[in-house]
Amino acid sequence: MNNTFTLIYGCMFSGKTTKLIELFNQCNLDENEVLVVKPKIDNRFVADKINSHGGLNMPGIRIKNPEQIESYLTPKIKMVFIDEVQFFGDRIVRTIENLLWNNVQVIASGLYKDYLHQDFGPMAQLKAMANKEYELLATCHVCQQSASYTFRTVKSDEQILVGHNNIYQARCQQHWQEGMKALQD
Ligand code: ADP
Ligand code: MG
Repeated sequence: MNNTFTLIYGCMFSGKTTKLIELFNQCNLDENEVLVVKPKIDNRFVADKINSHGGLNMPGIRIKNPEQIESYLTPKIKMVFIDEVQFFGDRIVRTIENLLWNNVQVIASGLYKDYLHQDFGPMAQLKAMANKEYELLATCHVCQQSASYTFRTVKSDEQILVGHNNIYQARCQQHWQEGMKALQD
């Protein structure tokens, strides 16, 4: 069984999608041997592409639910890449298990914590399953030290509020806490 499951995780702007694209470029497989997906909820940037904030991209399919991955599988597919995996919800766990059982390698990247620094969807379960991990750090928007918190600059109670640097910043713990306090005042 070829059951390698790689998880790339961190806060926003930590380079998760950049890392996913880098691993995709290194995999040296034919077009019909890889599947790249991301959730449809994320409608930033170009529709059929996976884009990093730094301007890199790779082809990818936008799907509504994890089960749709199975409908795109062919016997030739050896690796599945998933971006923004946190948006898929708990059902992605079963889907990834099934892929691994079928000797398909999986590389997923996702936001580990939400803007309240609470676990984002299936991420903790996925981290427990992963046999290779990349924990990435960003740069604090305020002090330029290492950052692992995602700060939302606008008030909203929704866990999912799609945006980029118009409403989100990477911050260190101290400046995330200060920012959260300032939003309450
Ligand atoms: P992630 O997928 O983790 O959100 P990306 O791989 O898309 O991260 O992009 C991270 C890179 O984007 C950073 O290394 C940085 O060079 C660049 N970048 C572009 N705009 C911003 C921004 N407003 N804040 C932080 N990083 C940014
Ligand atoms: Mg990304």
